[in-house]
Amino acid sequence: MPSDLHTHTTFSDGKLTPEELIAAAKEAGLHYIAITDHDTVDGIAHLYDNGLYPAKSIGIIPGIEFSAHHPTQEIHILGYNIDIFCTELIDKLSEVTNARWDRFSEIVSKLNGLGYEISEAEVLQIAGTSKSISRSHIGRVLVKKGYFPSVREAFDVLLSKGKPAYVAHYRLEVEDILSLIKAAGGQAVLAHPKLVHDDALVEALCQKGIEGLEVFYPQHDAEDTERYRKLAEKYSLFMTGGSDFHGFPTRYPTKLGEFTIEDAYAKELYRPEKA
Ligand code: AMP
Ligand code: MN
Ligand code: MN
Ligand code: MN
Repeated sequence: MPSDLHTHTTFSDGKLTPEELIAAAKEAGLHYIAITDHDTVDGIAHLYDNGLYPAKSIGIIPGIEFSAHHPTQEIHILGYNIDIFCTELIDKLSEVTNARWDRFSEIVSKLNGLGYEISEAEVLQIAGTSKSISRSHIGRVLVKKGYFPSVREAFDVLLSKGKPAYVAHYRLEVEDILSLIKAAGGQAVLAHPKLVHDDALVEALCQKGIEGLEVFYPQHDAEDTERYRKLAEKYSLFMTGGSDFHGFPTRYPTKLGEFTIEDAYAKELYRPEKA
């Protein structure tokens, strides 16, 4: 039976509102879904405020996705069963998302300096109501303006770490993220280990207090999945997985339900008392 523990909404860089996401998840027959927006739990707070979380017919796990500081690699850490009212977390998140506003402005300046004619207003229009402005919003503007055929290519040439328009995030060390997740009563999971592009670093991270590993992920092939399953077993981490659904037609999976995991993994994480 299907579940999905990694999804994004309009509160970060996803296309669907939380209401639309939950409706689509029910439509797809999902039993458990985690909302894991970048640097914000506002999407879950929004559902709560509208009486949609907790939900009766689907198990919603309140989550988040953080980006950790590293000089060369992308390290993303998911938090599950996050207390959305934890003030220590909320205060830090507002610092982190505020820094995203300055960062996006800096990226736009760099792009202008490189000859790309894009404006802050165009990015904000694409970002809509999101307060967690991301490189993917900027990538979409570059595609819309005809500079690149896909967001991926915009990342490859300009936006990825080490490329000319890259600007670092607010600096959060892995340890800072783990303690924020812990303060909010949650469990920390290393996201998409293959995208760290350094298995020795992944193995080091597994020994730093992370509790789970995102073994099941669209970009993991059978061999990757097996390798990360063994790593999870070696360090007694629980296994999670999810689609990293953003809702865009050019990014697999394009629909919820296309990439799912067995309910058993989600059940282990689900805390009805949190709902
Ligand atoms: P940011 O949070 O500003 O660092 O932006 C990272 C987001 O951009 C990720 O969450 C993905 O949604 C997207 N992204 C990262 N790398 C790529 C890539 N190579 N191609 C397309 N989208 C990407
Ligand atoms: Mn994203
Ligand atoms: Mn990620
Ligand atoms: Mn994600």
